[in-house]
Amino acid sequence: MTVLSGARVVSGDEVFDHGWVRVEGDRIAEVGSGPAPTSDVTDLGGAWLVPGFVDIHVHGGGGASFCDGDPGQARRAAEFHLAHGSTTVIASLVTAPAGSLLDSVRMLARLAETGVIAGTHLEGPYLAAARCGAHDPALLRVPDLDELAGLLDAGRGTVRQVTVAPELPGALDVIKLIADAGVVAAVGHTDATYAQARAGFDAGATLATHLYNGMRPVHHREPGVVTAALADERVAVELINDGVHLHPAIVRDAFARAGAGRVALVTDAMTAAGAGDGEYELGGRHVVVTAGVARLADGGAIAGSTLTMDVAVRRAVREAGVSMVDAVRAAATTPAWVLRLDRVGAIAAGQQADLVVLDDDLAVRRVMRRGRWVSTSRT
Ligand SMILES: [Zn+2]
Repeated sequence: MTVLSGARVVSGDEVFDHGWVRVEGDRIAEVGSGPAPTSDVTDLGGAWLVPGFVDIHVHGGGGASFCDGDPGQARRAAEFHLAHGSTTVIASLVTAPAGSLLDSVRMLARLAETGVIAGTHLEGPYLAAARCGAHDPALLRVPDLDELAGLLDAGRGTVRQVTVAPELPGALDVIKLIADAGVVAAVGHTDATYAQARAGFDAGATLATHLYNGMRPVHHREPGVVTAALADERVAVELINDGVHLHPAIVRDAFARAGAGRVALVTDAMTAAGAGDGEYELGGRHVVVTAGVARLADGGAIAGSTLTMDVAVRRAVREAGVSMVDAVRAAATTPAWVLRLDRVGAIAAGQQADLVVLDDDLAVRRVMRRGRWVSTSRT
């Protein structure tokens, strides 16, 4: 048993100023405020204690990728993000040829079954060429029920999310198949109109992939996916809050319109996160990272981010003016809820003991995953 005390504990909509958390094994047993239930405590000296972050859209980090079919790299990418507070990650695969996508799904299924990652997100291949961003347009395909069923089969229940452009021929049937399989269908990398987006949500899509990015901008005569998603109570929205993909005012506005209960902060991080500027690869495409911004060498489209979730949370609070409770909810509770990961995402009795200690500057001091400290003090 471990008791962490003297913390500002963010638990649901509350902050316990003199909070404590009792951990038993890999679970949270009890949460409270005031005197701890035992004198044998680890005093956190007034630091923030927040639930481990849940990143549902991440391609890599720490110089390693989830997309290269190499389990060693995938482990390193997960470890890198873990050190930045993401105790749960969904590995996102970019558009790839059918065979290599199947191989990657199988490889990641083994890592999900051993608890390294929480599942896989297929970002593609059923995306719109006009909004494909860093995805290779030559590899995009029209939605194919048989191919998708094969990918879900290969994942053995570990494919958790699939991003689809709902305006493509057959897309609505594919969205229905995804939703019926208990997987989250997301609308993204899409040129859909408002009406086409609504049709995608009516077919069962419950998430918008990196809202604003990879979709047509809002226009007063054609409001598009952004307006449809923010107005729809059934739909959550991913935000890449790195200061590059979105202006802080847009982040604040999305929180105000959807509420933190429908906002999932994501990193969309690629290999270069934490690995410095230089030349990288994403889905077979050449990417150049300059001053932390990843762009395709060919054409200059933004190619993922170098963001980590601790920075996304800090920026939400500092730059976008979001409350700590709402920022934490969007970094942990909402993404867990969206993907139906019911044992993570909150500090509450019975939840997995996934915890992050943050200092006054909202920098990560320690990370606990499944009741074990995995990272010591860092700056
Ligand atoms: Zn994307």
